[in-house]
Amino acid sequence: MSLCQKTADFLLECMPFDLRTITKKIVENKRLDRQEGLALLAHEDALSVARLADYKRKQVARDIVYFANTLYIHPTNLCELSCPMCSFYAKPGWKTAWFLTSEQIEEKIRASLHKNLTEIHIVGGLWRGCSLDYYKDVFLRIKAIDPNLHIKALTPVEYDFLAKQHGITVEEVFDLMMSWGLGSLPGGGAEILVEEIRKKIAPGKITSNEYLNVHRIAHKKGLRSNITMLFGHIEEHSDIITHLEKVRALQDESHGFQTFVPLKYHVENNALGKRKERLKPKDVRSIYAVSRLMLDNIRNLKVLWNYVGMEEACTILNYGANDISATQQDEKIITMAGGIQVKMSEDLLCEMVSKEGRIPKKIHSGYNYDND
Ligand code: SF4
Repeated sequence: MSLCQKTADFLLECMPFDLRTITKKIVENKRLDRQEGLALLAHEDALSVARLADYKRKQVARDIVYFANTLYIHPTNLCELSCPMCSFYAKPGWKTAWFLTSEQIEEKIRASLHKNLTEIHIVGGLWRGCSLDYYKDVFLRIKAIDPNLHIKALTPVEYDFLAKQHGITVEEVFDLMMSWGLGSLPGGGAEILVEEIRKKIAPGKITSNEYLNVHRIAHKKGLRSNITMLFGHIEEHSDIITHLEKVRALQDESHGFQTFVPLKYHVENNALGKRKERLKPKDVRSIYAVSRLMLDNIRNLKVLWNYVGMEEACTILNYGANDISATQQDEKIITMAGGIQVKMSEDLLCEMVSKEGRIPKKIHSGYNYDND
């Protein structure tokens, strides 16, 4: 009997009775359905669910945990929208508003070069000052500094905004951005892919279908993307499962998602956070475990330590995650919403991963699975 078979048999034996059918499907590599996802989210025995997710993670991604050395560039926090769940945006005249010129961005990157960056993560508000000419200048400057720096830039919401601003298609926007050095998409702005909830937390943003379609177009162009899910605000378990099903369905079709990234909603400095009676916090670990189990076609599940805390991020490595994000230098979106602030280093990330008995591997968002 192989080690794999022994592990699977052990898993089946130690599961509570009501998880046996689901466990059997998992060890036989069969897809879980909506009802099974809901049952797992609501299950009281979180440790058994974690054990299933950890088994699945090991099958798909073995013991390696990825991390990147990332510098965030937020070109501006000026935004035409005012999403109630957002702590980041500003309006002209606000003391908190900023706009970085391409020269300032270049200076900022040059000042961080000694830190062995692997990628530049660019994301900001919806603002006409950030035009295609602006991004051309920013991207070309980055590539002139170091052609190996991976550019992970803009959410589908920003690509849609750029296309409308310039009266061209999203395809044409991607063609231009790729010719200037775009490497991949970070996957923010997904929120919850259920219209009823999306309209309440981010009215004015493109719809779920429009959002997913930008990913579809990117994948057709050969770009790879991550995709997020904001949870713990006003959504129900059923909305979380709907989100996972939509992501899974697109991945079946386009195969372009590299990583799924659950994002825990934070209440500070945003309108929605002030209405505490409306909020429905969730069990963070269960969200990760069920994401790993439902998303059988996405290899990587990323936990962001600045969203959940460093200790919790390490624990979540045992709930299905195989990516501990990055050094997150100069990240501002979650920082402004009350996220964790730590001067993170590569050494500290490696130490956190190793303590969990796993193997740290430095990458950029292009992922490199050679020798894994
Ligand atoms: S979430 Fe994005 S689009 Fe909405 S207000 Fe914030 S920066 Fe603007």
